[in-house]
Amino acid sequence: MDSFVEEILLSHGEIVRICERLGKKITADYQDKRPVLIGLLKGCIPFLAELIKHIKCDIEIDFMQASSYEGTKSKGTVMVLKDIATPVKDRHLLLIEDIVDTGFTLEEVMHLLQDRGAASIEVVTLLDKPAGRKVIMNPKYIGHEIPNKFVVGFGLDYNEIYRNLDYIGVLKESVYKK
Ligand code: 5GP
Repeated sequence: MDSFVEEILLSHGEIVRICERLGKKITADYQDKRPVLIGLLKGCIPFLAELIKHIKCDIEIDFMQASSYEGTKSKGTVMVLKDIATPVKDRHLLLIEDIVDTGFTLEEVMHLLQDRGAASIEVVTLLDKPAGRKVIMNPKYIGHEIPNKFVVGFGLDYNEIYRNLDYIGVLKESVYKK
Protein backbone atom coordinates (compact mmCIF):
# COMPACT_ATOMS: atom_id res chain seq x y z
CA MET A 1 0.00 0.00 0.00
CA ASP A 2 1.23 3.53 -0.76
CA SER A 3 2.76 5.28 2.28
CA PHE A 4 0.35 8.28 2.17
CA VAL A 5 -2.72 6.01 2.32
CA GLU A 6 -4.30 4.91 5.59
CA GLU A 7 -6.73 2.36 4.13
CA ILE A 8 -7.85 1.14 0.71
CA LEU A 9 -11.63 1.54 0.33
CA LEU A 10 -12.02 0.23 -3.23
CA SER A 11 -9.52 -1.78 -5.23
CA HIS A 12 -9.29 -1.32 -9.00
CA GLY A 13 -11.15 -4.60 -9.54
CA GLU A 14 -13.98 -3.46 -7.27
CA ILE A 15 -14.25 -0.15 -9.16
CA VAL A 16 -14.53 -2.01 -12.49
CA ARG A 17 -17.30 -4.24 -11.09
CA ILE A 18 -19.15 -1.14 -9.83
CA CYS A 19 -18.91 0.42 -13.31
CA GLU A 20 -20.27 -2.81 -14.87
CA ARG A 21 -23.28 -2.72 -12.54
CA LEU A 22 -23.98 0.98 -13.12
CA GLY A 23 -23.42 0.64 -16.88
CA LYS A 24 -25.98 -2.18 -17.12
CA LYS A 25 -28.55 -0.17 -15.19
CA ILE A 26 -28.00 2.95 -17.33
CA THR A 27 -28.21 0.87 -20.53
CA ALA A 28 -31.58 -0.52 -19.41
CA ASP A 29 -32.94 2.87 -18.31
CA TYR A 30 -31.77 4.97 -21.29
CA GLN A 31 -32.37 2.77 -24.39
CA ASP A 32 -33.43 5.10 -27.27
CA LYS A 33 -33.03 8.24 -25.09
CA ARG A 34 -29.52 9.10 -26.31
CA PRO A 35 -28.51 10.68 -22.99
CA VAL A 36 -25.79 13.32 -22.69
CA LEU A 37 -23.24 12.26 -20.08
CA ILE A 38 -21.83 15.43 -18.54
CA GLY A 39 -18.59 14.71 -16.73
CA LEU A 40 -17.68 17.10 -13.94
CA LEU A 41 -13.97 17.80 -14.33
CA LYS A 42 -11.44 16.88 -13.29
CA GLY A 43 -12.32 14.04 -10.94
CA CYS A 44 -14.78 12.33 -13.31
CA ILE A 45 -12.17 11.35 -15.91
CA PRO A 46 -11.15 7.79 -14.84
CA PHE A 47 -14.70 6.95 -13.69
CA LEU A 48 -16.33 8.19 -16.91
CA ALA A 49 -13.73 6.37 -19.01
CA GLU A 50 -14.46 3.06 -17.24
CA LEU A 51 -18.22 3.56 -16.99
CA ILE A 52 -18.84 4.20 -20.70
CA LYS A 53 -17.23 0.86 -21.61
CA HIS A 54 -20.23 -0.77 -19.93
CA ILE A 55 -23.02 1.37 -21.42
CA LYS A 56 -24.42 -0.39 -24.47
CA CYS A 57 -26.80 2.23 -25.89
CA ASP A 58 -26.14 5.48 -27.80
CA ILE A 59 -24.76 8.28 -25.64
CA GLU A 60 -23.09 11.67 -26.06
CA ILE A 61 -20.38 13.08 -23.82
CA ASP A 62 -19.52 16.59 -22.69
CA PHE A 63 -17.64 18.15 -19.79
CA MET A 64 -18.14 20.91 -17.27
CA GLN A 65 -15.79 22.19 -14.60
CA ALA A 66 -17.27 23.63 -11.44
CA SER A 67 -15.23 24.34 -8.37
CA SER A 68 -16.10 24.58 -4.69
CA TYR A 69 -13.14 22.89 -3.03
CA GLU A 70 -9.86 24.13 -1.63
CA GLY A 71 -7.53 21.57 -0.04
CA THR A 72 -9.74 19.20 1.96
CA LYS A 73 -12.67 21.61 2.64
CA SER A 74 -15.74 22.66 0.66
CA LYS A 75 -16.11 26.45 0.38
CA GLY A 76 -19.83 26.36 -0.32
CA THR A 77 -19.69 28.75 -3.28
CA VAL A 78 -19.60 27.18 -6.72
CA MET A 79 -17.95 28.69 -9.78
CA VAL A 80 -18.36 27.35 -13.33
CA LEU A 81 -14.83 27.34 -14.75
CA LYS A 82 -15.68 25.51 -17.99
CA ASP A 83 -19.12 25.12 -19.55
CA ILE A 84 -20.49 22.41 -21.86
CA ALA A 85 -20.87 23.09 -25.60
CA THR A 86 -23.91 20.81 -26.09
CA PRO A 87 -27.38 22.42 -26.17
CA VAL A 88 -29.33 20.55 -23.49
CA LYS A 89 -32.90 21.72 -24.12
CA ASP A 90 -35.20 18.65 -24.11
CA ARG A 91 -32.24 16.31 -23.61
CA HIS A 92 -31.83 13.62 -20.98
CA LEU A 93 -28.75 14.38 -18.89
CA LEU A 94 -26.59 12.20 -16.67
CA LEU A 95 -24.17 14.13 -14.47
CA ILE A 96 -21.06 12.07 -13.83
CA GLU A 97 -19.35 12.80 -10.49
CA ASP A 98 -16.45 11.22 -8.65
CA ILE A 99 -17.98 11.90 -5.21
CA VAL A 100 -20.98 13.67 -3.68
CA ASP A 101 -20.16 15.24 -0.32
CA THR A 102 -22.01 18.44 0.71
CA GLY A 103 -24.00 18.35 -2.56
CA PHE A 104 -23.32 22.09 -3.21
CA THR A 105 -21.59 21.52 -6.56
CA LEU A 106 -24.31 19.33 -8.02
CA GLU A 107 -27.12 21.51 -6.70
CA GLU A 108 -25.68 24.52 -8.54
CA VAL A 109 -24.98 22.60 -11.73
CA MET A 110 -28.46 21.02 -11.73
CA HIS A 111 -30.15 24.45 -11.36
CA LEU A 112 -28.12 25.77 -14.27
CA LEU A 113 -29.05 22.86 -16.53
CA GLN A 114 -32.71 22.89 -15.45
CA ASP A 115 -32.85 26.57 -16.44
CA ARG A 116 -31.61 25.56 -19.90
CA GLY A 117 -34.62 23.26 -20.33
CA ALA A 118 -33.19 19.76 -19.89
CA ALA A 119 -35.84 17.02 -20.18
CA SER A 120 -34.40 15.10 -17.22
CA ILE A 121 -31.31 15.24 -15.03
CA GLU A 122 -29.95 12.38 -12.93
CA VAL A 123 -26.69 11.97 -11.06
CA VAL A 124 -24.22 9.11 -11.41
CA THR A 125 -21.56 9.11 -8.72
CA LEU A 126 -18.80 6.65 -8.02
CA LEU A 127 -18.77 7.54 -4.31
CA ASP A 128 -21.38 8.93 -1.97
CA LYS A 129 -20.52 10.50 1.40
CA PRO A 130 -24.04 11.02 2.86
CA ALA A 131 -22.71 12.16 6.27
CA GLY A 132 -21.26 15.29 4.60
CA ARG A 133 -24.52 16.39 2.97
CA LYS A 134 -25.63 20.03 3.47
CA VAL A 135 -28.42 20.16 0.84
CA ILE A 136 -30.99 17.62 -0.33
CA MET A 137 -29.25 15.64 -3.07
CA ASN A 138 -30.14 12.04 -3.88
CA PRO A 139 -28.05 10.59 -6.71
CA LYS A 140 -29.99 7.92 -8.66
CA TYR A 141 -26.89 5.87 -9.50
CA ILE A 142 -24.42 5.35 -6.65
CA GLY A 143 -21.31 3.21 -6.93
CA HIS A 144 -20.34 2.96 -3.29
CA GLU A 145 -21.21 4.68 -0.02
CA ILE A 146 -18.24 5.78 2.10
CA PRO A 147 -17.74 7.21 5.62
CA ASN A 148 -17.00 10.90 6.21
CA LYS A 149 -13.27 10.67 5.44
CA PHE A 150 -11.11 12.43 2.86
CA VAL A 151 -10.35 10.02 0.03
CA VAL A 152 -8.02 10.16 -2.97
CA GLY A 153 -7.36 8.19 -6.13
CA PHE A 154 -9.20 7.20 -9.32
CA GLY A 155 -9.72 10.88 -10.21
CA LEU A 156 -9.91 12.28 -6.69
CA ASP A 157 -7.09 14.63 -5.70
CA TYR A 158 -5.45 16.33 -2.78
CA ASN A 159 -4.12 19.67 -4.09
CA GLU A 160 -4.11 18.21 -7.64
CA ILE A 161 -2.08 15.08 -6.90
CA TYR A 162 -3.10 11.39 -6.48
CA ARG A 163 -5.73 11.47 -9.30
CA ASN A 164 -3.74 8.79 -11.13
CA LEU A 165 -4.02 6.06 -8.46
CA ASP A 166 -6.03 3.12 -9.82
CA TYR A 167 -7.78 2.58 -6.46
CA ILE A 168 -9.64 4.70 -3.88
CA GLY A 169 -7.91 5.19 -0.53
CA VAL A 170 -8.26 7.25 2.64
CA LEU A 171 -5.52 9.89 2.75
CA LYS A 172 -3.47 9.85 5.97
CA GLU A 173 -4.22 12.93 8.07
CA SER A 174 -0.49 13.50 8.51
CA VAL A 175 -0.32 14.41 4.79
CA TYR A 176 -2.64 17.42 5.13
CA LYS A 177 -2.41 18.32 8.84
CA LYS A 178 1.12 19.63 8.93
P1 5GP B 1 -19.60 18.69 -2.85
O1 5GP B 1 -19.97 19.93 -3.62
O2 5GP B 1 -20.62 17.59 -2.94
O3 5GP B 1 -19.24 19.02 -1.42
O4 5GP B 1 -18.24 18.18 -3.41
C1 5GP B 1 -18.06 17.63 -4.64
C2 5GP B 1 -16.62 17.71 -5.04
O5 5GP B 1 -15.76 17.92 -3.91
C3 5GP B 1 -16.15 16.43 -5.65
O6 5GP B 1 -16.34 16.40 -7.03
C4 5GP B 1 -14.68 16.41 -5.28
O7 5GP B 1 -13.94 17.11 -6.24
C5 5GP B 1 -14.61 17.14 -3.97
N1 5GP B 1 -14.59 16.21 -2.81
C6 5GP B 1 -15.57 15.95 -1.91
N2 5GP B 1 -15.18 15.01 -1.01
C7 5GP B 1 -13.92 14.67 -1.35
C8 5GP B 1 -12.98 13.72 -0.83
O8 5GP B 1 -13.20 12.97 0.14
N3 5GP B 1 -11.79 13.65 -1.49
C9 5GP B 1 -11.47 14.42 -2.55
N4 5GP B 1 -10.28 14.23 -3.09
N5 5GP B 1 -12.33 15.31 -3.08
C10 5GP B 1 -13.54 15.43 -2.49
